[in-house]
Amino acid sequence: MLSCRPGCGACCTAPSITSAIPGMPEGKPAGVPCIQLMPDLRCAIFGDPRRPAVCGGLQPSAEMCGPDRDHAIRWLTELEVATAPTMAIGAAASAAATTASSSAASTAAVALAPR
Ligand code: SF4
Ligand code: SF4
Repeated sequence: MLSCRPGCGACCTAPSITSAIPGMPEGKPAGVPCIQLMPDLRCAIFGDPRRPAVCGGLQPSAEMCGPDRDHAIRWLTELEVATAPTMAIGAAASAAATTASSSAASTAAVALAPR
């Protein structure tokens, strides 16, 4: 089985998480690094029962992880958009614009993250 790439952390940044995380009781929005993501991009609560179940359920895969972090961020962001709740048609265009800017925000967050 594929191993998680050290220094990636894409899974802890690109997707939204709806369950509570210590320090983020409402979960986290897409494109925002998890508060539990340490500067070396490892999880501060790995093995802690308060870690959301979804974190342990997400397994590395060649399709998702790809050759580098940028690929993984892009892939996970596209998945996030594809699985977002269906909206009324009138809201779809503005949502698309928001998605484009949140994607840019995601890229900015990644650029700010320590490597
Ligand atoms: S995208 Fe893959 S390598 Fe990166 S953090 Fe997630 S599982 Fe690990
Ligand atoms: S709790 Fe840990 S594994 Fe889950 S998103 Fe946050 S840093 Fe990543």
